[in-house]
Amino acid sequence: MVTPYYADMHTHTTCSDGLRSPSELLDKAAAKGFKAIAITDHDNMEAHRILAKGQVSAGLFLVPGIELSCSENGREVHILGYFLNAEHADLLAHEHTARTDRERRGQEMINNLRRAGVDVSYAELAEQAGSAPITRPHLAAILVRKGHARNMADAFTKWLEKGRIGYAERTKFSVRDAVSLIRTCGGVSLIAHPGRTYQDPRLFLSLLSLGIDGIEVFHPSHWNVTREYYRMLAIQHHLLLSGGSDYHGSREYDEQNFGTYGISEEQFDAIHTKAVQRRLHG
Ligand code: AMP
Ligand code: MN
Ligand code: MN
Ligand code: MN
Repeated sequence: MVTPYYADMHTHTTCSDGLRSPSELLDKAAAKGFKAIAITDHDNMEAHRILAKGQVSAGLFLVPGIELSCSENGREVHILGYFLNAEHADLLAHEHTARTDRERRGQEMINNLRRAGVDVSYAELAEQAGSAPITRPHLAAILVRKGHARNMADAFTKWLEKGRIGYAERTKFSVRDAVSLIRTCGGVSLIAHPGRTYQDPRLFLSLLSLGIDGIEVFHPSHWNVTREYYRMLAIQHHLLLSGGSDYHGSREYDEQNFGTYGISEEQFDAIHTKAVQRRLHG
């Protein structure tokens, strides 16, 4: 079925915890009928540097994007950046820091699991991640394969969620710093899936003073009331609206979500225009 949406603004590839390569994802998006797609891997833009060297699916507009992992008042907050420069020195420096920190944290998670008698090694984890930065889904895949969990979700619930034996913290990176990094690199920043981060939407309001440009309103984790709440909030505060499937290709519901979440051409143009204005006028 062809998608009714113009763009999917939230997807992952093998450059983070997704299962498809950047070029496979582009082909998939073109086949679905999208006119534009944002690849938003966790904490890196390697997919965009890879694609810049090769061919891009005909008729598809590729939006340079990233999903930055941040921490705010003890809560994990994800910030989406669009239209930033994948070659900017500050971005490359942050990628390096984040990657090194994920290696340290991966080692800690392995140590925690080994102490609990789970037979996993850092070498296996590094192999699972390949050239991507190490993420918890990589470790979850190993736990499933070795029979320590029934599936991905079970691996998180049993071992990898905050408070579970295998969990270890990443070094904190604030939303303010993420917004500033994205701005320096010429992009616009939006708060990803606020409904997933905040059970109490009132807690979200403090984020609005940190200089963000928009809110991801359309996301599989938002049910109707949540979606309408954030839609109204974005309109009231003159913020951009975005949305996407958060496609990883690793979960049963990913294929169903792909093509079912996204934004219209008007919403896409508003994001693009804001980014162009920022480049021109700072
Ligand atoms: P990390 O950035 O290494 O902490 O890993 C976070 C990623 O794990 C998220 O981007 C999701 O893709 C995935 N994730 C988080 N919670 C779950 C869950 N309960 N089940 C499956 N995947 C999850
Ligand atoms: Mn992910
Ligand atoms: Mn996220
Ligand atoms: Mn995501």
